[in-house]
Amino acid sequence: MKNQYDIVVVGAGPAGAMAAHAAAQTGARVLLLEKDRQAGIPVRCAEGVGEGSFRKVFPQVPESWICQRITKAVIHAPSGAELPIASRHTGLLLDRKRFDFDLAHRAVQAGAELFVKANVHGMHIDKAKGAQVQVRWLDREVTVTAQVVIGADGVESRVGRWGGLKTVTPLRDLDACAQVLAGPVDLAMDTCHFYFSEHVTPGGYAWIFPKGDGLANIGLGVSGDRCADARPYAQLQAFLHQHFPGIRQLSATCGGVPCCAPMKKIVSDRLMLAGDAAHQVNPLTGGGIVNALIAGRLAGKIAGQAVQENDCSAERLREYEKTWQQTEGVRQARAFRLKQAMFSLNDERLNILADTVLNLPFEKRTIINIFKYALLKKPSLIWDAVKVFT
Ligand SMILES: Cc1cc2nc3c(=O)[nH]c(=O)nc-3n(C[C@H](O)[C@H](O)[C@H](O)COP(=O)(O)OP(=O)(O)OC[C@H]3O[C@@H](n4cnc5c(N)ncnc54)[C@H](O)[C@@H]3O)c2cc1C
Repeated sequence: MKNQYDIVVVGAGPAGAMAAHAAAQTGARVLLLEKDRQAGIPVRCAEGVGEGSFRKVFPQVPESWICQRITKAVIHAPSGAELPIASRHTGLLLDRKRFDFDLAHRAVQAGAELFVKANVHGMHIDKAKGAQVQVRWLDREVTVTAQVVIGADGVESRVGRWGGLKTVTPLRDLDACAQVLAGPVDLAMDTCHFYFSEHVTPGGYAWIFPKGDGLANIGLGVSGDRCADARPYAQLQAFLHQHFPGIRQLSATCGGVPCCAPMKKIVSDRLMLAGDAAHQVNPLTGGGIVNALIAGRLAGKIAGQAVQENDCSAERLREYEKTWQQTEGVRQARAFRLKQAMFSLNDERLNILADTVLNLPFEKRTIINIFKYALLKKPSLIWDAVKVFT
């Protein structure tokens, strides 16, 4: 590891790997630092993406990234009523170990230098001179100087805080999740399932995402301020016991998802945040992979251009912030409003909603129609639903 680079990217998840790739393509000298032993391990994700939005980033998706194609979805009401959804949209269950590893590999092929087991534990930014990043790499302490730092260090991000950005997530908007990869599940492998209940998953939902070969990612998320009432790991074990007695759990993971409104500031002098570190998650679904890819790519490109222009001021880097806010950020704000309305429904209202929609012919049981019936008393939000889901 050298002591000087143009751009240091902290974290080799989807946001960091895309940022490093895009920055290296501009000709910048890029250092990508990952604290774990390999990009993609451990997986703390249910690995689901909407196929349409994912293909906007990767039109040719390698088959090796796909574990399972999803063509159907079923929503489960607290009463146990099952609501199959009519949707034109399809989903992909990714192999994130492989996917994240390949993204990091792409970044390296584009010229970025990747170091694993490299934990960034401090940063100091001097607006005039540059950023200094403190790295513990294996048993060595290294100080690296850069023109720009991109913090792509995930939900537990410290880079933003070190740089003076307000990254604290309100507890109610930080979903606490628990998940297992388990099998055998006797379910159609092309169908994902969502369970809603204010008692089992207050402020969140449970999911079953089939991964093929009779395996599935089964997990649930609970609003951070309701964890005392519903501890995610215990709730998940109870859920498994109820729905899949005898199932074998091959791996388990816990993690947080920032399901909040868009952050106002994601850049400052010589600093940019991308992905979960910048709270760029769809707050309604908790999905953050595609947003991390889009944001990382944009941040890396603009960082590279700023280096070429020798202007890494907040004003210059704000092009990234503005572009994000005017595109995906608007969508995130809409989804946040919808989340607040939907997760305020109690079990009784959810059951009534399910029964109402079940009375519709199948082709009318669309996500938009579910929102229309759920938001009858808040019609201004229906437009948000139309914009988010079309
Ligand atoms: C249980 C669960 C299920 C989920 N399911 C889905 C889903 O189905 N679909 C979806 O789209 N999203 C899902 N998400 C969210 C998704 O995983 C994230 O939004 C996505 O991974 C964000 O990518 P990222 O690159 O911003 O962060 P991450 O993928 O978290 O990557 C951050 C990287 O930074 C590294 N790092 C952190 N700190 C340092 C440091 N100090 N020094 C060096 N390296 C550091 C970490 O080791 C990590 O590799 C889920 C999340 C959870 C917790």
